[in-house]
Amino acid sequence: MRVFYLYQIENKGEIKMIIVMKTTAKAEDVKKVSKMVEDKGLRVSVVNGTGQTVIGMIGDTTKVDPEQIEVDPAVEKVMHVSEPYKLANRAFHPDDSIIDVRGVKIGGGNLAVIAGPCSVESKEQVIEIAKAAKAAGANLLRGGAFKPRTSPYAFQGMGSEGLDILVAAREATGLPIVSELMDAEHLDEFIEKVDLIQIGARNMQNFDLLKKVGKATKKPILLKRGLSATYQEWIMSAEYIMASGNPNVILCERGVRTFESYTRNTLDLQAIPVIKELTHLPIIIDPSHAGGKWWLVNPMAKAAVVAGCDGLMIEVHNNPEKALCDGPQSLKPAKFAQLMEELKPIAKAVNKEI
Ligand code: PEP
Ligand code: MN
Repeated sequence: MRVFYLYQIENKGEIKMIIVMKTTAKAEDVKKVSKMVEDKGLRVSVVNGTGQTVIGMIGDTTKVDPEQIEVDPAVEKVMHVSEPYKLANRAFHPDDSIIDVRGVKIGGGNLAVIAGPCSVESKEQVIEIAKAAKAAGANLLRGGAFKPRTSPYAFQGMGSEGLDILVAAREATGLPIVSELMDAEHLDEFIEKVDLIQIGARNMQNFDLLKKVGKATKKPILLKRGLSATYQEWIMSAEYIMASGNPNVILCERGVRTFESYTRNTLDLQAIPVIKELTHLPIIIDPSHAGGKWWLVNPMAKAAVVAGCDGLMIEVHNNPEKALCDGPQSLKPAKFAQLMEELKPIAKAVNKEI
């Protein structure tokens, strides 16, 4: 069964054991310890964190005596990594990853707010919402151009024209743009135009798409949790992107399917501390798709910030009653501005910059 989880890191093989160096370790210590491992016929993969360096061991680790390595004064500890995910694993990268989206930092002590309509409907609509979102303090603009709709008869999005509208809104406001990529066919266009490429809940396990975005770009990827994905399945999807060459992954919890039908989904806020325990990746919360009702967005966004999320994704529409998609869960600009004000003292209380 384990073979199921075998995967390649830069085609080098699986990392089964890691050496966590002391924060005081110098480059020559890392070199010396790496050589000790290599002399046993193994290969190493070195990850330099801001505070700590971790050496991954690749090959037959039965030849390695952890205690012998731990004797070295520059070594903090030697650990087996039993989880099937390595690159996303916090053990392999003790520091929080901070992902830069066109100058906006997500992760660490930064709270980033993504706001905008479910779908791009017209230039006027997006520019108006973008300006209001920016004035209220949003850091990024969202908008779907290619929409994954449950019904083939529902509005499918404006496509490329929608992406151009987002680009125009970025020019008008300076806000970096976030949009969902549904098919690798549009990958080049997204790499050219979009700052944060979203992989939607329904595509979380589209492994071909994950491999393609990981291989083709180092642009940040926003990976939404599948409707009924476990934490491990979700992290393994991030691992697909990372193992294909793109380490810049941000996770987004957007509610999961439960027996409850009053709300669209059930927002799993436990995902925040769990993801932070298991991985070093930033996690943001989308309370709009979770609850499906606009009045649930304010309290759940606040709860998410208290629970330690690195950002929020909130649907904002200037005319929700007429929205072509997800109007009932969208905040009007004034309600969004009110939420941003109310989040300030909460963010401060949990040491986050908003
Ligand atoms: C979206 O954010 O536009 C969206 C479709 O969300 P999800 O993939 O979480 O359903
Ligand atoms: Mn939506």
